[in-house]
Amino acid sequence: MELDKMDENDWKYHGEGNKSLVVSHLQHSRVLRLLKYPSEDAEQSHQTTEQAHRHIQNIVDFSNNIMKPLLGEKYIHSGEIVKLPLDFVRLLSLKIQQERPELRCDKVMDTFSGCALCLPNLTQFNSCHFGDQRPPICVEIKPKCGFLPFSRHFTKDCKRKVCRFCMHQHLKLASGKWKRLSRYCPLDLFSGNKQRMYIAIKHLLEEPQNNFKIFKGGELIFSCTDDMEKEPDLSALAQQLRPYFPHASGLYNGYQPGKAVLNEFIQVICSALLSGWDCSRAGEPRKVHLPEGRAHCEASPLHRDLVRNGNHCLPKDCVLARILQTQMLDSLDIEGIYPLYKRIEQHLEEYPKERSRLQIDGPYNEGFLEKLKNCPSEDDGSVEYAVGKVHQYRAAMTAKDCSIMITLARCGENEVLEPNLEINPSKPRFSYSVSILDLDPKPYEAIPYQFKLDSKIVNYYLRSTHAKQ
Ligand code: ATP
Ligand code: MG
Ligand code: MG
Repeated sequence: MELDKMDENDWKYHGEGNKSLVVSHLQHSRVLRLLKYPSEDAEQSHQTTEQAHRHIQNIVDFSNNIMKPLLGEKYIHSGEIVKLPLDFVRLLSLKIQQERPELRCDKVMDTFSGCALCLPNLTQFNSCHFGDQRPPICVEIKPKCGFLPFSRHFTKDCKRKVCRFCMHQHLKLASGKWKRLSRYCPLDLFSGNKQRMYIAIKHLLEEPQNNFKIFKGGELIFSCTDDMEKEPDLSALAQQLRPYFPHASGLYNGYQPGKAVLNEFIQVICSALLSGWDCSRAGEPRKVHLPEGRAHCEASPLHRDLVRNGNHCLPKDCVLARILQTQMLDSLDIEGIYPLYKRIEQHLEEYPKERSRLQIDGPYNEGFLEKLKNCPSEDDGSVEYAVGKVHQYRAAMTAKDCSIMITLARCGENEVLEPNLEINPSKPRFSYSVSILDLDPKPYEAIPYQFKLDSKIVNYYLRSTHAKQ
C-alpha cells in the first residue's frame, strides 16, 4: 500500500461500530479502521492530528501489550498506524456516506487527522485457499459477558441469577434501540456444552442485533437489517450457505433442506469456537471448569434440565476460554470498583503527579500489565490495590466487548490438511482461522458512567419483570 498514492476508488465501505468505521481494499486483504465523532459537534470535538495519533497508538499498545498476553498471541492482530493524505480521507468519507446504516449516522468519520489503523481483513482467508472455488465464509460473534458476577459488593440479588446481557435487553427494548428481545444468552455460548452452544448460536441467527454477522468472500451477507421490524431471512441465508454443505442439501432434499444446512453450519461454528487445542501435545486437551453457580442464567430460555445436567467446561486454549478468563478479571463488579475509583480520585486530588506513575491513562506497556497482574488479592487500603483492580476491570471490560471472527473455507475434496486445521473430519471439511478483534482500552473516566448504567439496567429489569408477574 503506497500511502502517497491512495485512491478512494480502491476502497469500499465495510462496517462500523460505535467508535470506528472500517473500509476494505478491493484487491488486497486489508482494512483501514478510522475514528468517529458525534456529528453535531464534529467541528469542535475532533482531535488534533497529534491527539488522534496518541489515541490510536494507545489502542495498538493496549492490544499488543495487555490483551495479547491475556488472550493469546495467535488470536490477535493489533495492526499498525498509518498517516493518510487528507484529500483521500475526505473523498473516501463522501464516497461511503450513502452506504452507512441509518442507526450509525449520529456520528461522522474523522476526516481531520488523517490517522487510521491498518489491519488484515479478517473476513477473508489470508493463507492459501486450499484449491476451493467457494469464497470463504466469516462469522463474527460479539459474545458479551459470559459469567454471572461473583462479587460480594452487590446491592441487588438478581445479578447473581440473571446475566447482564439478558437484563440489558429489557432496557434496550424500552429505549427503542431494538424492536424485539434477543433470546441469545452469553452463558449458553460460553458453557462449553455443545447443546447449549448450538441453541445460543441459533438464537443469534434468529435475532442478530449487533452480536452476529456473516460475510461471504468479504461481503456482509447477514446481520441485523436497517428495517428493525423485519425478521432475518433464514431461508435466504440457507440458500447462500447451501454450496458449502452439499451433503446436507442432498440428504434432506424436499424436507426443509434449509434447516439441515443451518444445522451443519452451526455445528461447524461450535467446533471452531471450541478448537485451539495444540495437537503437538499428547493426550486430551486440558479443560477449564466453569465456576459452580455462575454458569447458568435464569433468563435463558433453555430447559433447566439441559442446563443442570450437561457437562460444562471449555478446552483450555479455545478462544471462548481465553475470553472468559479475561472477562473474569472483573472480580469485584462495577459496584466494588466504583469505591476504588473514588479512592484513586481522592489520592490524585492530593498528589496529582501520581497520575503518571500509576499509569491511569497509560502508557499501556509491561508496567501496566505488571500492576494488573501483581495486584494484592486482599484490599490493604492502598492506592496500589485500587489501581491494580481498576486496571483489571478495564481489561475485563475490553474482553466483554470484543468480537470473535471465525473464517471458514471448504477444503478441496482430495486435499490432506494439517491435523490442527481440520475440524469435524467426518463432516464437510473446512479449514478455519479464529481471531479476536476490537480490543480498544475502555477509558478510566467512564467508570462513574458504568456505575450509573449498571444500576439503571438492574432497576429497569426488576421493574419490567415484576410488572409482568
Ligand atoms: P464497537 O461499537 O463494537 O466497540 P468499534 O467501533 O470499536 O465497535 P470495530 O468493532 O473494531 O469497531 O469494527 C467495526 C466492524 O468492522 C466490526 O464489527 C467488523 O465487522 C469490522 N471489522 C473491524 N476490523 C476488521 C478486520 N480487521 N477485518 C475485517 N473486518 C473488520
Ligand atoms: Mg466492535
Ligand atoms: Mg470497540
